[in-house]
Amino acid sequence: MVELKSPEEIERMRVAGRFVAEILAELRTLARVGVNLLELEQHVRQRIQERGAVSCYLDYAPSFGRGPFRNTICLSVNDAVLHGLPFDYALRDGDVLSMDLALGIDGWVADSATSMIVGTADAEDLRLIKATEDALAAAIAVALPGNRIGDISAAIAAVARANGYPVNTEFGGHGIGRTMHEDPHVSNVGRAGRGYPLRPGLTIAIEPWFARTTDRIYTDPDGWTIRSVDGSRTAHSEHTVAITADGPQVLTAAA
Ligand code: MG
Repeated sequence: MVELKSPEEIERMRVAGRFVAEILAELRTLARVGVNLLELEQHVRQRIQERGAVSCYLDYAPSFGRGPFRNTICLSVNDAVLHGLPFDYALRDGDVLSMDLALGIDGWVADSATSMIVGTADAEDLRLIKATEDALAAAIAVALPGNRIGDISAAIAAVARANGYPVNTEFGGHGIGRTMHEDPHVSNVGRAGRGYPLRPGLTIAIEPWFARTTDRIYTDPDGWTIRSVDGSRTAHSEHTVAITADGPQVLTAAA
């Protein structure tokens, strides 16, 4: 079931979204060569506690993971792309780090992800990250009343194709609001003009993620972390977006 949100409810989601953006910006500054993933996890945990927010991940136990998740952020390095379980690992020069954070404030949830290079950048990694950012921007641009979910999916897939990246269809975006995962599903591949109609009040997380040379994935023995099957590097960009009569609003943008 899809629940449309009132303008007031969207503003409450924006409160959570701004806090997500704030923490991700802090992490982008903190993530340096030698910094341990567990230090980043600890930072997020502390910020969430101080704010009186609620982690969407802590104790999350979906069918696809070996639940419950014991952390407050997903940190995925290099060939890891989604649901990365923070572990005792010191970041190395040239690592691609993807950070995915969802939390709630006063019952309303927001979800965003960003990828970055730690230390010295490889040009191909920068190109991969930029492709996910460009795909996200292209998807947001068509998140308009009168369009359909398929327009968003097709916009993402077109950017991937233009850059030569295959697209996985198992994990994509999702409705969001009272909980992290609501209807509708927002695939990263689809046909323009098809699917659920976009209406004012629809709030969705749009999240293109690509691996350099494969659309296939496997789950790490840790039971959570999803990796590219060929070990190629990956990137992930995500925003929570509200469809409104005035156009798309990015709720996880920095204030
Ligand atoms: Mg997310």
